[in-house]
Amino acid sequence: MGKSFMPKIRTERELKRIQLEGLQWTVNHVYKNSEFYRKRFNEVEVRPKHIKSLKDISKLPFTTSKDLQEGYPFPLRSSPFEKIVRIHASSGTTGKRKVLCYTQKDINDWANMFARCYEMAGLTTKDRVQIAVGYGVWTAGVGFQAGVERLGAMAIPIGPGNIDMQCQFLEDFQSTALCCTASMGVLMAEEVEKRHLRDKIALKKLIMGSERSSDAQRKKMKELLGVEHVFDIPGLTELYGPGTGLDCIYHEGIHYWADYYILEILDPETLQPVPSGEIGEMVITTLRKEAAPLVRYRTRDLTKLIPKRCSCGSILPMHDRLLGRSDDMFIIRAVNIYPGQIDHILSSTNGVGSEYQIHLDRKEDGKDYMTIKVERVESGKPEEDPALTNSIEETIKKQILVSGKVVMVDYGTLPRSERKSKRVFDNRGI
Ligand code: ZN
Repeated sequence: MGKSFMPKIRTERELKRIQLEGLQWTVNHVYKNSEFYRKRFNEVEVRPKHIKSLKDISKLPFTTSKDLQEGYPFPLRSSPFEKIVRIHASSGTTGKRKVLCYTQKDINDWANMFARCYEMAGLTTKDRVQIAVGYGVWTAGVGFQAGVERLGAMAIPIGPGNIDMQCQFLEDFQSTALCCTASMGVLMAEEVEKRHLRDKIALKKLIMGSERSSDAQRKKMKELLGVEHVFDIPGLTELYGPGTGLDCIYHEGIHYWADYYILEILDPETLQPVPSGEIGEMVITTLRKEAAPLVRYRTRDLTKLIPKRCSCGSILPMHDRLLGRSDDMFIIRAVNIYPGQIDHILSSTNGVGSEYQIHLDRKEDGKDYMTIKVERVESGKPEEDPALTNSIEETIKKQILVSGKVVMVDYGTLPRSERKSKRVFDNRGI
């Protein structure tokens, strides 16, 4: 074994001490060097000296994606330009791109975090990693590659698409790990099957970035490619890029790098912490980032903490997979519901397709009702609907604590979208 990128921390107390030091360093750094943060801190009358314990994080103001857009082109900048060695930008699907600056230390820290991801996935210097994610101004390709090189494994940088070359390299170079998006993973699985390559390749692990993979997609990739593990790699441009955590081979949750950032899980309405294990919005404060530090940055991504120690024994805490966006949350009969929760139930039910819609109505009795339209799989039979709807309705009641009516519809009847499909139709008026 080569060098390890895991933190040399043995106790939770030690981790908390590192977090407090990092928090105090960050608060001092941004107050001194960023006009934006200084102004924000002054508005809520908080000074660096007020941060004496980890609990004091609640005194700090929030940062949002709007702040990044308004500060374009160099938002949150807290280091002089002479120290900035690179920028990255989000793909900018809505409004202006988010641009983030990096010092050399930030780049090094990111590579270490990414190398830790590969180590968590069980990769060593003997592995050969085929990188089939995009290279460019966004953080994907270059992040995946820096991590491979930092670990000391072999990087095979291809970028996305180019299926012929991907298949040829899998065979000729005997790549042991493939990094790609979930849809690319499915495509590769189907190609390897079609070309009868499964016995000629040496692929053991898939690491997927940028889009969430469904259980059905993972199953297909495992079967057709013969891989042992499929990992989802989380991350966002604002927080270096991908590589901010990874599930280990026990797949009990995503270990996140709590020695690099503090993760708060807050109720998106009240902005107060949710009880441990409940769903809320991920709010991030970095502990070592120099050029564009985050102070209580609202990601709008929803997840929950997994309040237990993983079977692997790592001290690094875990959060669940991402369960959707807080903007998509709706409330029915006083229960907060996220489409991701329904999605999760549907994708773990056999006989159900990938398309669904959630309709909310207020009836004459004044009560709210939820109807979920779900497509059958292509080969599904209408006579199997009652059993299927019963089982989904029961699971929803058990897991989300609310009643909903499930209506099965024919395969292909719900509209498809190239972009994100509209899932929730709230017809209740205000
Ligand atoms: Zn683990």
